[in-house]
Amino acid sequence: MLLYQGVIMGIFKIKRGGVFAALLLLCHSALGATHTVKAKETFYSIAKRHGVSVAALMSQNGMSDPRKLYVGKRLVIPGKASTSQVKTKPKGVHRKVAAKTARYYPSSSKFRVIVDAGHGGRDMGAYWYGVRESNLNIKVARKVEAGLRARGYPVTMTRRSDVFISLSRRSQIANRYRNAIFVSIHFNATKHTRVSGAETYYAGRKGRYLAKCIQSQMVRRLRVKNRGVRRGRYAVLVGTRCPAVLVECGFISNTRERRRCNTARFQTDAARSIVAGIERYDRVY
Ligand SMILES: [Zn+2]
Repeated sequence: MLLYQGVIMGIFKIKRGGVFAALLLLCHSALGATHTVKAKETFYSIAKRHGVSVAALMSQNGMSDPRKLYVGKRLVIPGKASTSQVKTKPKGVHRKVAAKTARYYPSSSKFRVIVDAGHGGRDMGAYWYGVRESNLNIKVARKVEAGLRARGYPVTMTRRSDVFISLSRRSQIANRYRNAIFVSIHFNATKHTRVSGAETYYAGRKGRYLAKCIQSQMVRRLRVKNRGVRRGRYAVLVGTRCPAVLVECGFISNTRERRRCNTARFQTDAARSIVAGIERYDRVY
């Protein structure tokens, strides 16, 4: 692609008439553009650059795992600028088309998000100095629900009030849907009261990617310690068929963090991080 562009630009400089160049561009578009992956590039950055969707770029190249992208790989860019546009106005046409398509993206049909507020009812989860984990979980979960609905995602809540729901029931709710992801919301606690930070557990390959997307947003937006993503053997993760994650937003056993976690500001930011992480994941899968 870059080599082609170089040749084309050269022709432009030599022969400004444009007829010759238009012919060359025609050949170029008939052949289909390619892109050689460079360091630090991602499907997202490449798709954005060429004005195509990540989904289209990945399917064109028969790839389903974004992590399998490597430096030096040649990607075929799915068809975009039509030859008629190129003929009439050869210069700058690529850039214009790219900007226009980028605005409509992502356009894929949305998956359902199962939002699971951890614990509830007789199971209050962690309890430290009057702060009940189950209460924090539902507050964040409701904000996540609102954020997702505003972005057009269908949402199913495993609970909406302070009621007890078994772990298997939570998985059952998620397993009703084919195209879904499962996000369980929790707050952490440990007897080691100095420990603080956010961490995200996952099950499955897609779950791992979803966990990474959410975790990086939390660390950036909440400015909490990054405890990373880990494979979790929690019942709700193991029993759920769709990509599943369990988010631990912060430690209520740590005095400073507990005070923060208990504020509406922190809960809103935590919810926004989760929503932003899901959106990032949506651009790839
Ligand atoms: Zn919990």
